[in-house]
Amino acid sequence: MSGGTIVVRFASDLRLSDNPALYHAVEEGASVVALFVWAPEEEADWPPGGAHRWWLHSTLQALSKDLDEAGLQLILRAGSSPSVLAEVVEATGARAVFWNTRHTPAAKGADATLRRSLEEAGTEVRSYPGYLLHDPDAIETSAGGPYRVFSPFWRKAKDQLHVGEPLPRPSFSGLTPLNDVPGSDELKSFGLTPEARDGVDWASGLREAWTPGEKGAQRALRDFVDNRLIDYVESRDRPDLNGTSRLSPYLHHGELSPRQVWHAVQDWVQNGPMRKAADGFLEEIGWREFSYHVLHHYPHTLTEPLNDKFESFPWREDEEGLRRWQQGKTGFPIVDAGMRQLWDTGWMHNRVRMIVASFLTKDLLVHWHEGARWFWDTLADGDLANNTMGWQWSAGCGADAQPYFRVFNPESQATRHDPRGDYIRAWIPELRSVPDEYIHRPWDAPEAIRDEAGLDASGGYPSPIVDHSRARKRALEAYEGLS
Ligand SMILES: Cc1cc2nc3c(=O)[nH]c(=O)nc-3n(C[C@H](O)[C@H](O)[C@H](O)COP(=O)(O)OP(=O)(O)OC[C@H]3O[C@@H](n4cnc5c(N)ncnc54)[C@H](O)[C@@H]3O)c2cc1C
Repeated sequence: MSGGTIVVRFASDLRLSDNPALYHAVEEGASVVALFVWAPEEEADWPPGGAHRWWLHSTLQALSKDLDEAGLQLILRAGSSPSVLAEVVEATGARAVFWNTRHTPAAKGADATLRRSLEEAGTEVRSYPGYLLHDPDAIETSAGGPYRVFSPFWRKAKDQLHVGEPLPRPSFSGLTPLNDVPGSDELKSFGLTPEARDGVDWASGLREAWTPGEKGAQRALRDFVDNRLIDYVESRDRPDLNGTSRLSPYLHHGELSPRQVWHAVQDWVQNGPMRKAADGFLEEIGWREFSYHVLHHYPHTLTEPLNDKFESFPWREDEEGLRRWQQGKTGFPIVDAGMRQLWDTGWMHNRVRMIVASFLTKDLLVHWHEGARWFWDTLADGDLANNTMGWQWSAGCGADAQPYFRVFNPESQATRHDPRGDYIRAWIPELRSVPDEYIHRPWDAPEAIRDEAGLDASGGYPSPIVDHSRARKRALEAYEGLS
C-alpha cells in the first residue's frame, strides 16, 4: 500500500469483482471513496432512455448495498463531473482518482476533460481497461487501418488475444474508514424511475424479467453456462426457446465484465462439442468488440451511414407506420411479437431485432434513426455501439452489413425461427387460438378461424399495414436509384 485516499469514479463498471480501478485503489490506498456522478447530458452522446434509466436506478441501489456490506459508502452526486470531482477530492484530501476507461465518443471526451482538470490541480489520474477484451485501437488490418468486416477482425483479435484472469473482488479489510465521508445525493433525486419521470409506472414487466446488479449478473452467467451454453449454436436463432444468454444488459451496465464471461466459458470447455458451442457464443462477444472498434474509428456513424452511398437514400416520413411498428400493431405477427416483448421486458431476441429492423427500414422505408431511437428508449441493454451497429447492419448501410437487396420476409423468417408460433402466442394474446397452420399468416385463415379469434372485430389483431411483396419491390427500386 502506498497510502492516502483514492477516489474511485464508477460509471460503466457497476460491479465489485474484476473492477480494475476499484481493485488497484484498494490495493494502494489507505482509504477509498466510491463515487458515481450523474451527468447524462455531459457524458452521453444520447442521454439514457427510459428502460436504461430504470436499470441504472436498480443497479445503483444494488451497488450501494454491495459496497455497504464491504464497509464503503457509495457517494452519489448529480452535476458536472469536473466540479463534483474537484469538490470531492478537496473534501477528502484524495491524492488520486481512478476509473475504468469508457469508449463512447462523448464519454471519452468528458473523461479527457476531467483528466485535464484534475491533473492541472495536481491530482493523479489513472484509468484502467475493463469494459472490452481489447482496446479498440489494438486490432489493425495489415495496411494499418480499422476493420470494416467482422470475420477478419475476429480472426485477428483471437490470434492476438490474451485474456488475463479476471481480478477478484478486492479485500476491503485493510482499508481505513474515512473521517469525513462527503455528503451524497438521494438516488431518487436523479429521477431515474418511470414514476419520477412521467408519473406512470410502466416498469412492472422489467421488474419481473430482470434482477439488475452484480449478483443478478453472476447468477445469470452461471445459469447460462451451466444449463444452456451447450445448446447455444442450435438454439440461438430461435426466439421461442430460451437459447441465448440474456447477458446484454449486465454487460452494457458493467455489472459483468467480458473477461468474466470469457473465462467462465473457457473453464466450462472440456471437449469437442463443447468447444464448438463455446466458440459460437464467444463470437457474439466478438461482435460486441467489433461494434466498439467501428464506433471508435468511425464515431460519425452514430448519425451518418458508414457507407456514404446511403446519404441520399430516399427515406419516407410515415408517422402512422412508425407508430404501428412501435406499438406492435403492424399485422405481421413476428414483428408485433418482438415489439411487444421489447415494450414489456426491455429486451428483444436478436433474430427478431433483425426482422423488425428490416421491416422498418425496408418494408416501411422509415429511416434507421427512428428505429435506433425507439430501441434506445425501450431497451434495457441500449448500447450506443451495439445499437448503431445493429441498425446500420439491418438497414444495409453499416459495417459488414446485410446487403440492402436482402429484404427479410416476415412470414418465412417466422416459419423458420418460430416454427410452431410459440413466441408469437406468448406475446400476442389475440392470436393464441389461431392454429399453427395460420399463425404466421393469420390474414389467410378461413373466416371461421378469423371470427373465432376475433381478428376482424374492432380492437382485434390488425390486418397487415403493407403488402410485403409490393413493399419489397419499392425498397429495391429506392436502392437501385442510389448513385
Ligand atoms: C437492430 C439491432 C439493434 C441492437 N441493439 C443492441 C443494443 O442496443 N445493445 C446490445 O447489447 N445489443 C444490441 N443488438 C445486438 C443483439 O441483438 C443483442 O446483443 C442480443 O440480442 C442480446 O441478447 P443476449 O445477451 O441473449 O445475446 P447472446 O446471443 O447471448 O450474446 C452474448 C453477448 O454478445 C453480445 N452480442 C450478441 N450479439 C451481438 C451483436 N449482433 N452485436 C453486438 N454484440 C452482440 C451481447 O453483449 C450479448 O449479451 C442489436 C441488434 C440489432 C439487430
